[in-house]
Amino acid sequence: MMARASVAVTQNQSNAQPPTLAQPAPRRTRQARVAWGGHAVTVGGTAPVRVQSMTNTDTADAVATAIQVKELAQAGSELVRITVNTPEAAAAVPAIREQLDRMGIAVPLIGDFHYNGHRLLTEFPGCAQALSKYRINPGNVGKGDKKDRQFAQMIEAALRWDKPVRIGVNWGSLDQELLARLMNENSRRVQPWDARQVMIEALIASAIGSAKQAVQLGMAREQIILSCKVSGVQDLIAVYRELARRCDYPLHLGLTEAGMGVKGTVASSAALAILLQEGIGETIRVSLTPEPGQARTQEVAVALELLQALGLRAFAPSVTACPGCGRTTSTVFQELAQQIDAHLRARMSAWRSQYPGVERLRVAVMGCIVNGPGESRHADIGISLPGVGEAPAAPVFIDGQKAATLRGDDIAQQFQSIVEDYVRSRFNAPPGKNKSA
Ligand code: SF4
Repeated sequence: MMARASVAVTQNQSNAQPPTLAQPAPRRTRQARVAWGGHAVTVGGTAPVRVQSMTNTDTADAVATAIQVKELAQAGSELVRITVNTPEAAAAVPAIREQLDRMGIAVPLIGDFHYNGHRLLTEFPGCAQALSKYRINPGNVGKGDKKDRQFAQMIEAALRWDKPVRIGVNWGSLDQELLARLMNENSRRVQPWDARQVMIEALIASAIGSAKQAVQLGMAREQIILSCKVSGVQDLIAVYRELARRCDYPLHLGLTEAGMGVKGTVASSAALAILLQEGIGETIRVSLTPEPGQARTQEVAVALELLQALGLRAFAPSVTACPGCGRTTSTVFQELAQQIDAHLRARMSAWRSQYPGVERLRVAVMGCIVNGPGESRHADIGISLPGVGEAPAAPVFIDGQKAATLRGDDIAQQFQSIVEDYVRSRFNAPPGKNKSA
Protein backbone atom coordinates (compact mmCIF):
# COMPACT_ATOMS: atom_id res chain seq x y z
CA MET A 1 0.00 0.00 0.00
CA MET A 2 2.71 2.42 1.01
CA ALA A 3 4.78 1.69 -2.09
CA ARG A 4 1.77 2.29 -4.42
CA ALA A 5 0.97 5.57 -2.69
CA SER A 6 4.56 6.65 -3.05
CA VAL A 7 4.56 5.86 -6.80
CA ALA A 8 1.27 7.72 -7.28
CA VAL A 9 2.67 10.81 -5.58
CA THR A 10 5.81 10.68 -7.74
CA GLN A 11 3.75 10.36 -10.94
CA ASN A 12 1.45 13.18 -9.89
CA GLN A 13 4.43 15.38 -9.17
CA SER A 14 6.09 14.63 -12.51
CA ASN A 15 2.84 15.51 -14.36
CA ALA A 16 2.10 18.51 -12.17
CA GLN A 17 1.29 21.81 -13.84
CA PRO A 18 2.23 24.98 -11.99
CA PRO A 19 -0.73 26.70 -10.33
CA THR A 20 -2.23 29.46 -12.45
CA LEU A 21 -1.38 32.85 -11.04
CA ALA A 22 -4.19 35.37 -10.64
CA GLN A 23 -4.01 38.87 -12.04
CA PRO A 24 -6.49 41.47 -13.33
CA ALA A 25 -7.51 40.82 -16.92
CA PRO A 26 -6.71 43.48 -19.51
CA ARG A 27 -9.48 45.36 -21.29
CA ARG A 28 -8.82 47.60 -24.25
CA THR A 29 -10.80 50.82 -24.33
CA ARG A 30 -10.50 54.13 -26.01
CA GLN A 31 -8.66 56.79 -24.04
CA ALA A 32 -10.35 59.98 -22.90
CA ARG A 33 -8.33 63.05 -22.02
CA VAL A 34 -9.52 65.27 -19.18
CA ALA A 35 -7.54 68.48 -19.53
CA TRP A 36 -7.17 71.88 -17.89
CA GLY A 37 -4.52 74.56 -18.22
CA GLY A 38 -1.39 72.75 -19.25
CA HIS A 39 -2.40 69.52 -17.47
CA ALA A 40 -4.29 66.40 -18.45
CA VAL A 41 -5.47 63.19 -16.82
CA THR A 42 -6.06 60.31 -19.21
CA VAL A 43 -8.80 57.75 -18.57
CA GLY A 44 -8.82 54.36 -20.30
CA GLY A 45 -6.44 53.00 -22.93
CA THR A 46 -3.06 52.42 -21.31
CA ALA A 47 -3.77 54.74 -18.38
CA PRO A 48 -3.89 53.23 -14.87
CA VAL A 49 -7.30 52.91 -13.23
CA ARG A 50 -8.05 56.44 -12.02
CA VAL A 51 -9.45 57.41 -8.64
CA GLN A 52 -12.14 60.03 -8.43
CA SER A 53 -14.38 61.53 -5.80
CA MET A 54 -17.08 64.14 -5.32
CA THR A 55 -17.45 67.08 -2.98
CA ASN A 56 -20.43 67.54 -0.65
CA THR A 57 -20.06 71.28 -0.11
CA ASP A 58 -22.40 73.89 -1.56
CA THR A 59 -20.65 74.67 -4.85
CA ALA A 60 -21.86 78.27 -4.60
CA ASP A 61 -19.50 78.55 -1.63
CA ALA A 62 -16.35 78.74 -3.73
CA VAL A 63 -13.93 78.84 -0.79
CA ALA A 64 -15.37 75.83 1.04
CA THR A 65 -15.58 73.86 -2.20
CA ALA A 66 -12.02 74.70 -3.24
CA ILE A 67 -10.77 73.63 0.19
CA GLN A 68 -12.58 70.29 -0.03
CA VAL A 69 -11.39 69.70 -3.59
CA LYS A 70 -7.87 70.36 -2.32
CA GLU A 71 -8.32 67.83 0.53
CA LEU A 72 -9.67 65.20 -1.85
CA ALA A 73 -6.85 65.79 -4.35
CA GLN A 74 -4.21 65.64 -1.63
CA ALA A 75 -5.75 62.38 -0.39
CA GLY A 76 -5.16 60.93 -3.86
CA SER A 77 -8.24 61.75 -5.93
CA GLU A 78 -7.12 62.30 -9.53
CA LEU A 79 -10.41 63.84 -10.67
CA VAL A 80 -12.94 65.66 -8.49
CA ARG A 81 -16.60 66.18 -9.32
CA ILE A 82 -18.64 69.07 -8.03
CA THR A 83 -22.37 69.50 -8.33
CA VAL A 84 -23.44 72.37 -10.59
CA ASN A 85 -27.09 72.68 -9.74
CA THR A 86 -27.92 76.39 -9.62
CA PRO A 87 -26.91 79.65 -11.32
CA GLU A 88 -24.99 80.55 -8.15
CA ALA A 89 -23.07 77.27 -8.29
CA ALA A 90 -22.29 77.75 -12.00
CA ALA A 91 -21.11 81.30 -11.30
CA ALA A 92 -18.74 80.03 -8.59
CA VAL A 93 -16.99 77.42 -10.75
CA PRO A 94 -14.39 79.77 -12.34
CA ALA A 95 -13.48 81.08 -8.87
CA ILE A 96 -13.04 77.52 -7.58
CA ARG A 97 -10.73 76.73 -10.49
CA GLU A 98 -8.74 79.92 -9.90
CA GLN A 99 -8.33 79.18 -6.19
CA LEU A 100 -7.14 75.65 -6.91
CA ASP A 101 -4.62 76.98 -9.43
CA ARG A 102 -3.41 79.55 -6.91
CA MET A 103 -2.96 76.78 -4.32
CA GLY A 104 -1.07 74.67 -6.84
CA ILE A 105 -3.70 71.90 -6.80
CA ALA A 106 -3.43 70.14 -10.13
CA VAL A 107 -6.72 68.27 -10.34
CA PRO A 108 -9.46 68.53 -12.98
CA LEU A 109 -12.95 69.65 -11.98
CA ILE A 110 -15.92 67.75 -13.32
CA GLY A 111 -19.35 69.34 -13.38
CA ASP A 112 -22.29 67.18 -12.31
CA PHE A 113 -25.45 68.32 -14.08
CA HIS A 114 -29.10 67.35 -13.72
CA TYR A 115 -32.28 68.96 -15.09
CA ASN A 116 -30.82 72.37 -15.97
CA GLY A 117 -27.34 71.56 -17.29
CA HIS A 118 -28.28 72.71 -20.80
CA ARG A 119 -29.15 76.16 -19.45
CA LEU A 120 -26.24 76.50 -17.03
CA LEU A 121 -23.65 75.48 -19.60
CA THR A 122 -25.10 77.97 -22.08
CA GLU A 123 -25.70 80.90 -19.72
CA PHE A 124 -22.43 80.54 -17.78
CA PRO A 125 -19.64 80.18 -20.36
CA GLY A 126 -17.03 80.76 -17.63
CA CYS A 127 -18.32 77.65 -15.88
CA ALA A 128 -18.40 75.62 -19.09
CA GLN A 129 -14.80 76.62 -19.77
CA ALA A 130 -13.43 76.12 -16.24
CA LEU A 131 -14.77 72.58 -15.96
CA SER A 132 -12.69 69.79 -17.49
CA LYS A 133 -15.52 67.32 -18.08
CA TYR A 134 -19.30 67.32 -17.90
CA ARG A 135 -21.35 64.56 -16.35
CA ILE A 136 -24.66 64.19 -18.18
CA ASN A 137 -27.42 61.99 -16.74
CA PRO A 138 -29.65 60.98 -19.67
CA GLY A 139 -32.50 60.29 -17.23
CA ASN A 140 -32.45 63.90 -16.03
CA VAL A 141 -32.02 66.00 -19.16
CA GLY A 142 -35.71 66.50 -19.83
CA LYS A 143 -38.87 64.73 -20.88
CA GLY A 144 -40.62 64.18 -24.20
CA ASP A 145 -39.45 66.36 -27.08
CA LYS A 146 -37.30 68.47 -24.73
CA LYS A 147 -35.07 65.51 -23.93
CA ASP A 148 -33.21 65.31 -27.24
CA ARG A 149 -33.02 69.10 -27.59
CA GLN A 150 -31.59 69.65 -24.11
CA PHE A 151 -29.19 66.72 -24.42
CA ALA A 152 -27.98 68.22 -27.71
CA GLN A 153 -27.45 71.60 -26.01
CA MET A 154 -25.15 69.97 -23.45
CA ILE A 155 -23.20 68.12 -26.13
CA GLU A 156 -22.91 71.35 -28.12
CA ALA A 157 -21.37 73.03 -25.06
CA ALA A 158 -18.91 70.14 -24.73
CA LEU A 159 -17.99 70.52 -28.40
CA ARG A 160 -17.69 74.30 -28.14
CA TRP A 161 -15.31 74.09 -25.17
CA ASP A 162 -13.62 70.86 -26.27
CA LYS A 163 -14.58 68.89 -23.14
CA PRO A 164 -15.13 65.18 -22.69
CA VAL A 165 -18.39 63.98 -21.14
CA ARG A 166 -19.44 61.16 -18.92
CA ILE A 167 -22.81 59.79 -19.82
CA GLY A 168 -23.76 58.69 -16.34
CA VAL A 169 -26.88 56.60 -16.02
CA ASN A 170 -28.20 55.86 -12.55
CA TRP A 171 -30.99 53.43 -11.79
CA GLY A 172 -32.51 55.93 -9.35
CA SER A 173 -33.06 58.36 -12.21
CA LEU A 174 -33.36 55.97 -15.13
CA ASP A 175 -35.08 57.31 -18.26
CA GLN A 176 -38.67 56.26 -17.46
CA GLU A 177 -39.88 56.55 -21.07
CA LEU A 178 -37.17 54.15 -22.19
CA LEU A 179 -37.90 51.77 -19.31
CA ALA A 180 -41.64 51.79 -20.12
CA ARG A 181 -40.92 51.06 -23.77
CA LEU A 182 -38.64 48.13 -22.92
CA MET A 183 -41.22 46.83 -20.41
CA ASN A 184 -43.88 46.89 -23.14
CA GLU A 185 -41.60 45.11 -25.58
CA ASN A 186 -40.83 42.56 -22.91
CA SER A 187 -44.50 41.85 -22.25
CA ARG A 188 -44.85 40.84 -25.91
CA ARG A 189 -42.04 38.28 -25.69
CA VAL A 190 -42.99 34.61 -25.79
CA GLN A 191 -40.84 34.15 -22.72
CA PRO A 192 -40.64 37.53 -20.97
CA TRP A 193 -37.41 38.46 -19.24
CA ASP A 194 -37.17 38.94 -15.50
CA ALA A 195 -37.94 42.54 -14.47
CA ARG A 196 -34.33 42.97 -13.26
CA GLN A 197 -33.05 41.93 -16.67
CA VAL A 198 -35.26 44.54 -18.30
CA MET A 199 -33.98 47.17 -15.88
CA ILE A 200 -30.37 46.21 -16.64
CA GLU A 201 -31.10 46.34 -20.36
CA ALA A 202 -32.69 49.79 -19.93
CA LEU A 203 -29.61 51.12 -18.09
CA ILE A 204 -27.27 49.87 -20.79
CA ALA A 205 -29.52 50.99 -23.64
CA SER A 206 -29.74 54.47 -22.09
CA ALA A 207 -25.95 54.79 -21.82
CA ILE A 208 -25.05 53.35 -25.21
CA GLY A 209 -27.97 55.05 -26.98
CA SER A 210 -26.99 58.43 -25.52
CA ALA A 211 -23.34 57.89 -26.52
CA LYS A 212 -24.50 57.12 -30.06
CA GLN A 213 -26.57 60.31 -30.04
CA ALA A 214 -23.54 62.31 -28.84
CA VAL A 215 -21.41 60.86 -31.65
CA GLN A 216 -24.08 61.78 -34.19
CA LEU A 217 -23.94 65.33 -32.85
CA GLY A 218 -20.21 65.44 -33.57
CA MET A 219 -18.60 64.18 -30.35
CA ALA A 220 -15.45 62.09 -30.86
CA ARG A 221 -15.79 58.62 -29.37
CA GLU A 222 -12.58 59.33 -27.41
CA GLN A 223 -14.39 62.12 -25.59
CA ILE A 224 -16.99 59.82 -24.04
CA ILE A 225 -16.91 57.89 -20.76
CA LEU A 226 -19.87 55.77 -19.66
CA SER A 227 -21.30 54.68 -16.34
CA CYS A 228 -24.39 52.73 -15.28
CA LYS A 229 -24.64 52.82 -11.51
CA VAL A 230 -26.90 50.69 -9.35
CA SER A 231 -26.85 50.04 -5.61
CA GLY A 232 -26.89 46.22 -5.60
CA VAL A 233 -23.60 44.34 -5.87
CA GLN A 234 -24.86 41.54 -8.13
CA ASP A 235 -26.78 43.99 -10.34
CA LEU A 236 -23.69 46.17 -10.74
CA ILE A 237 -21.63 43.18 -11.81
CA ALA A 238 -24.28 42.13 -14.34
CA VAL A 239 -24.65 45.66 -15.74
CA TYR A 240 -20.95 46.34 -16.18
CA ARG A 241 -20.10 42.94 -17.63
CA GLU A 242 -22.68 43.53 -20.32
CA LEU A 243 -21.71 47.16 -20.83
CA ALA A 244 -18.03 46.18 -21.25
CA ARG A 245 -19.04 43.48 -23.74
CA ARG A 246 -21.02 45.92 -25.87
CA CYS A 247 -18.71 48.93 -26.11
CA ASP A 248 -15.11 50.10 -25.92
CA TYR A 249 -15.72 53.38 -24.09
CA PRO A 250 -13.80 53.85 -20.83
CA LEU A 251 -16.10 52.93 -17.95
CA HIS A 252 -16.54 54.88 -14.75
CA LEU A 253 -17.19 52.26 -12.11
CA GLY A 254 -18.97 52.73 -8.82
CA LEU A 255 -21.68 51.30 -6.62
CA THR A 256 -24.14 54.11 -6.13
CA GLU A 257 -25.53 54.86 -2.68
CA ALA A 258 -23.18 52.26 -1.19
CA GLY A 259 -24.01 53.41 2.33
CA MET A 260 -21.99 54.18 5.42
CA GLY A 261 -18.97 52.77 7.19
CA VAL A 262 -18.21 49.08 7.04
CA LYS A 263 -21.29 48.24 4.96
CA GLY A 264 -20.52 50.83 2.29
CA THR A 265 -16.85 49.94 2.20
CA VAL A 266 -17.44 46.21 1.92
CA ALA A 267 -20.24 46.48 -0.64
CA SER A 268 -18.21 48.82 -2.86
CA SER A 269 -15.06 46.74 -2.51
CA ALA A 270 -16.88 43.47 -3.26
CA ALA A 271 -18.52 44.80 -6.43
CA LEU A 272 -15.59 46.81 -7.74
CA ALA A 273 -12.98 44.15 -7.00
CA ILE A 274 -14.79 41.51 -9.04
CA LEU A 275 -15.17 43.83 -12.02
CA LEU A 276 -11.67 45.26 -11.81
CA GLN A 277 -10.26 41.73 -11.69
CA GLU A 278 -12.09 41.10 -14.96
CA GLY A 279 -10.47 44.19 -16.43
CA ILE A 280 -13.67 46.24 -16.26
CA GLY A 281 -13.44 49.83 -15.02
CA GLU A 282 -11.09 52.61 -16.11
CA THR A 283 -11.91 55.00 -13.27
CA ILE A 284 -13.56 54.32 -9.92
CA ARG A 285 -15.48 56.20 -7.31
CA VAL A 286 -16.39 54.78 -3.92
CA SER A 287 -19.69 56.45 -2.98
CA LEU A 288 -19.51 56.36 0.81
CA THR A 289 -21.87 58.30 3.01
CA PRO A 290 -19.55 59.93 5.57
CA GLU A 291 -20.36 59.12 9.19
CA PRO A 292 -20.84 62.18 11.41
CA GLY A 293 -17.47 63.83 11.83
CA GLN A 294 -15.80 61.59 9.26
CA ALA A 295 -13.68 63.22 6.58
CA ARG A 296 -14.95 63.21 3.01
CA THR A 297 -11.54 61.87 2.05
CA GLN A 298 -12.47 58.45 3.45
CA GLU A 299 -13.93 57.47 0.08
CA VAL A 300 -10.60 58.25 -1.57
CA ALA A 301 -8.68 56.21 1.02
CA VAL A 302 -10.92 53.19 0.33
CA ALA A 303 -10.48 53.55 -3.45
CA LEU A 304 -6.69 53.73 -3.14
CA GLU A 305 -6.55 50.72 -0.83
CA LEU A 306 -8.79 48.75 -3.17
CA LEU A 307 -6.61 49.38 -6.22
CA GLN A 308 -3.46 48.68 -4.24
CA ALA A 309 -4.87 45.46 -2.74
CA LEU A 310 -5.68 44.21 -6.26
CA GLY A 311 -2.16 45.04 -7.42
CA LEU A 312 -3.51 47.53 -9.99
CA ARG A 313 -1.78 50.59 -8.51
CA ALA A 314 0.76 51.30 -5.78
CA PHE A 315 0.23 54.48 -3.78
CA ALA A 316 1.93 53.91 -0.42
CA PRO A 317 4.05 51.28 1.29
CA SER A 318 1.88 48.44 2.55
CA VAL A 319 2.00 47.08 6.08
CA THR A 320 1.12 43.44 6.60
CA ALA A 321 0.10 42.85 10.21
CA CYS A 322 -1.35 39.75 11.80
CA PRO A 323 -4.67 40.10 13.63
CA GLY A 324 -3.21 38.91 16.94
CA CYS A 325 -4.61 36.08 19.03
CA GLY A 326 -4.20 34.40 22.41
CA ARG A 327 -0.48 34.17 21.77
CA THR A 328 -0.21 37.92 22.17
CA THR A 329 -1.63 39.11 25.47
CA SER A 330 -0.41 42.67 25.09
CA THR A 331 -1.30 45.30 22.53
CA VAL A 332 2.36 46.03 21.86
CA PHE A 333 2.35 44.62 18.36
CA GLN A 334 -0.97 46.32 17.47
CA GLU A 335 0.48 49.64 18.59
CA LEU A 336 3.68 48.96 16.70
CA ALA A 337 1.78 48.09 13.52
CA GLN A 338 -0.24 51.29 13.88
CA GLN A 339 2.84 53.39 14.58
CA ILE A 340 4.70 51.96 11.60
CA ASP A 341 1.69 52.45 9.34
CA ALA A 342 1.27 56.06 10.53
CA HIS A 343 5.01 56.68 10.19
CA LEU A 344 5.08 55.40 6.60
CA ARG A 345 2.05 57.50 5.63
CA ALA A 346 3.49 60.60 7.28
CA ARG A 347 6.80 60.15 5.49
CA MET A 348 5.28 59.42 2.09
CA SER A 349 4.86 63.02 0.97
CA ALA A 350 8.62 63.59 1.39
CA TRP A 351 9.65 60.11 0.23
CA ARG A 352 7.53 60.19 -2.94
CA SER A 353 9.75 62.73 -4.66
CA GLN A 354 12.98 61.66 -2.96
CA TYR A 355 12.75 57.89 -3.35
CA PRO A 356 11.01 56.79 -6.56
CA GLY A 357 9.36 53.40 -6.19
CA VAL A 358 9.05 53.61 -2.39
CA GLU A 359 5.27 53.15 -2.69
CA ARG A 360 5.94 49.48 -3.46
CA LEU A 361 7.72 48.90 -0.15
CA ARG A 362 6.22 45.97 1.80
CA VAL A 363 6.56 45.95 5.59
CA ALA A 364 5.41 43.16 7.93
CA VAL A 365 4.66 43.57 11.64
CA MET A 366 3.81 40.22 13.21
CA GLY A 367 2.75 39.14 16.67
CA CYS A 368 4.66 35.92 17.37
CA ILE A 369 6.92 33.15 16.13
CA VAL A 370 4.10 31.12 14.47
CA ASN A 371 3.85 33.18 11.28
CA GLY A 372 6.08 36.09 12.22
CA PRO A 373 9.44 35.05 10.76
CA GLY A 374 7.83 33.54 7.64
CA GLU A 375 5.70 36.58 6.84
CA SER A 376 8.60 38.90 7.68
CA ARG A 377 10.84 37.04 5.25
CA HIS A 378 8.26 37.53 2.47
CA ALA A 379 8.17 41.28 3.07
CA ASP A 380 10.95 43.69 2.16
CA ILE A 381 11.41 44.42 5.82
CA GLY A 382 9.62 42.74 8.70
CA ILE A 383 9.60 42.35 12.45
CA SER A 384 8.35 39.44 14.53
CA LEU A 385 7.45 40.44 18.06
CA PRO A 386 7.69 38.04 20.97
CA GLY A 387 4.44 36.24 21.81
CA VAL A 388 3.47 34.82 25.18
CA GLY A 389 6.26 32.68 26.59
CA GLU A 390 8.77 33.68 23.92
CA ALA A 391 12.08 35.34 24.74
CA PRO A 392 11.65 39.15 24.87
CA ALA A 393 13.39 39.75 21.55
CA ALA A 394 12.10 40.85 18.14
CA PRO A 395 13.98 39.56 15.09
CA VAL A 396 14.04 41.89 12.08
CA PHE A 397 14.25 40.50 8.55
CA ILE A 398 15.48 42.48 5.58
CA ASP A 399 15.09 41.14 2.04
CA GLY A 400 14.37 37.68 3.46
CA GLN A 401 17.39 37.54 5.77
CA LYS A 402 17.52 37.98 9.53
CA ALA A 403 19.30 41.29 9.99
CA ALA A 404 18.92 42.28 13.65
CA THR A 405 17.26 41.41 16.95
CA LEU A 406 15.61 44.27 18.83
CA ARG A 407 15.13 44.43 22.60
CA GLY A 408 13.93 47.00 25.11
CA ASP A 409 11.07 49.47 25.46
CA ASP A 410 11.77 51.41 22.29
CA ILE A 411 11.42 48.65 19.72
CA ALA A 412 9.06 50.82 17.62
CA GLN A 413 11.61 53.64 17.36
CA GLN A 414 14.44 51.21 16.62
CA PHE A 415 12.38 49.55 13.89
CA GLN A 416 11.36 52.90 12.36
CA SER A 417 14.99 53.88 12.23
CA ILE A 418 15.84 50.60 10.44
CA VAL A 419 12.99 51.22 7.97
CA GLU A 420 14.32 54.74 7.30
CA ASP A 421 17.82 53.34 6.62
CA TYR A 422 16.36 50.67 4.35
CA VAL A 423 14.33 53.17 2.32
CA ARG A 424 17.34 55.44 1.99
CA SER A 425 19.66 52.69 0.82
CA ARG A 426 17.20 50.87 -1.44
CA PHE A 427 15.33 53.68 -3.12
CA ASN A 428 17.88 56.48 -3.12
CA ALA A 429 19.08 55.65 -6.61
CA PRO A 430 18.78 57.32 -10.00
CA PRO A 431 15.37 56.58 -11.55
CA GLY A 432 15.37 53.15 -13.14
CA LYS A 433 18.24 51.92 -10.94
CA ASN A 434 16.40 50.98 -7.76
CA LYS A 435 15.11 47.46 -7.27
CA SER A 436 11.47 48.31 -7.68
CA ALA A 437 11.88 50.14 -10.94
S1 SF4 B 1 1.36 35.44 14.01
FE1 SF4 B 1 1.18 34.69 16.12
S2 SF4 B 1 0.15 36.33 17.23
FE2 SF4 B 1 -0.20 36.73 15.06
S3 SF4 B 1 -2.19 35.74 14.68
FE3 SF4 B 1 -0.58 34.28 14.12
S4 SF4 B 1 -0.31 33.00 15.93
FE4 SF4 B 1 -1.42 34.86 16.59
